Amino acid sequence: MALYPSPVGVIALATQHGKERVMAKPLWHGLGLTVRRAEQVDTDLFGSFSGEQQRPADALTTCRLKAEAGIEALGVDLGIASEGAFGPHPAVPLLPVGREWITFVDRRLNLVISEHAVSRSTNFSSCFGVSPAAIADWLQQVGFPSHALMLKSHDGEAGRTGPWLAKGVRCEQQLTELMAVAVQDSPVGLAWVETDMRAHCNPTRMASIRRLTFRLIRRLANPCPSCAAPGWGLVNTMVGLPCRWCGLATELVNIEVFGCVACGHTRQQPRRDGLTSADPAHCPYCNP
Ligand SMILES: [Zn+2]
Ligand SMILES: [Zn+2]
Repeated sequence: MALYPSPVGVIALATQHGKERVMAKPLWHGLGLTVRRAEQVDTDLFGSFSGEQQRPADALTTCRLKAEAGIEALGVDLGIASEGAFGPHPAVPLLPVGREWITFVDRRLNLVISEHAVSRSTNFSSCFGVSPAAIADWLQQVGFPSHALMLKSHDGEAGRTGPWLAKGVRCEQQLTELMAVAVQDSPVGLAWVETDMRAHCNPTRMASIRRLTFRLIRRLANPCPSCAAPGWGLVNTMVGLPCRWCGLATELVNIEVFGCVACGHTRQQPRRDGLTSADPAHCPYCNP
């Protein structure tokens, strides 16, 4: 068995949320790397979705810091970590989107390689009510009970302040009891309920992490055409795809920039999907 520039060995994974369940097999079969969980690393210190702990840096940097913490903890050369962020779509606020980052660090070859994905496939949402029956439609929409929830008392304002009463709730009986407690303590008599976005509580998110892991593996298996370092891949895009009717530049991607993080070599190429002109619907002149 081949694979990641040998000698291959152990790769540290800093997670407390079971991400090895979707990352270990692909890394083994795809690159010959054995995942070992760096359980000493308290990943919550790098920020938590539930808001108790702020991220020390942006998501991409945080991801690298976690991978490096795993490397330090296990005393190995390779590390990997993932990070997620959830919120409204920048253009369509009612539409939630999930963003995931994954970062691979190789101390031996001095490489840091990241992949990023934006997905509309997320159940990220919040709701309030007095009982599970009162929010039954929402519960179905967010995939409860296969997807866990967190809840607190509605504070009468945005509902968002105050400590969480419980997280990782995936049992209807438990939810009934906890919502009753939250309602009792709330000045407006409501429980605030939110999706738990931690990977082990959220199969949809776990699937996104799995897809991104495969993407990273494909990239690591791709050597730089100039220096042969692993990780040749998409590093930038340039907009300006010409309109099919008038030829003016649109905001759609026209050129994809591939690059190497080791030697800095880059190559510009047309879109991989073969699209050479934009639908006039995207044109500022034909469809202002
Ligand atoms: Zn290179
Ligand atoms: Zn046009």
